[in-house]
Amino acid sequence: MTQRVELLTLCRALGEPHRDLVLSAEGNVSMRVGEHTMAIKASGSALLTMCQDDLVDVNIPTILTLLEGAPSDEVIRSTYREALLSQADKTPSVEAILHAVLYDITAAHVIAHTHPTVVNMLTCSVNPQILVQGALFPDAIVMLGRQQLLIPYTDPGVPLARAVRDGVRAFVEQEGSTPKVIYLANHGLFVLAESPESAMALTEMVVKNARILHGTLAAGGPAFLPSMQVDRIDQRPDEAHRRNVLNIQ
Ligand SMILES: [Zn+2]
Repeated sequence: MTQRVELLTLCRALGEPHRDLVLSAEGNVSMRVGEHTMAIKASGSALLTMCQDDLVDVNIPTILTLLEGAPSDEVIRSTYREALLSQADKTPSVEAILHAVLYDITAAHVIAHTHPTVVNMLTCSVNPQILVQGALFPDAIVMLGRQQLLIPYTDPGVPLARAVRDGVRAFVEQEGSTPKVIYLANHGLFVLAESPESAMALTEMVVKNARILHGTLAAGGPAFLPSMQVDRIDQRPDEAHRRNVLNIQ
């Protein structure tokens, strides 16, 4: 399968109703397809029914010029049009700037953004920080990393892209690696992956982790693993092997 076909397979799977990750045109997915180019879902397309025509190629540096100053809605619209490398009749997803920022400052190859109900029950709660307070079980550490990033609610578009850029930079400084999972308070989930398959695996593990977290809250509260145990899982050679097999770095 070509990369784009694999990406479309991921899009349709993320849109499947039983997964409860997105409704209608919610969410977006992108892939790095060149040094300065990403393919991203066109605005208004539904993940469930994505086809080749719903993917548009966009120049990343052109989109990133929006981060300078305070661009008006008209400047944003014209910059999005200018950045289009294919299909002038389509517009990139409104969240394209967020994807562009993440490709600029991380080595991600595929980015999947969804609004999973079970995750948003927590991002929309009075205590979204609980999502990043600790690790609950070994497989979550292996797949999602020992820490994930939570961004407080920010106006979508350029302000949110700036907040995510600053949040990722601070995360890298503290953790020494880029996050694989970014929670946006009152909004949703971003996963940064090596491939379409690993983007799905990460999304599924985030959802499972959120379900377990809900259960623990009903049963007296989460018992987070002690940091010594988290370090042990994070550094075990057999777990490193598993990450390689899963194509999760
Ligand atoms: Zn969104």
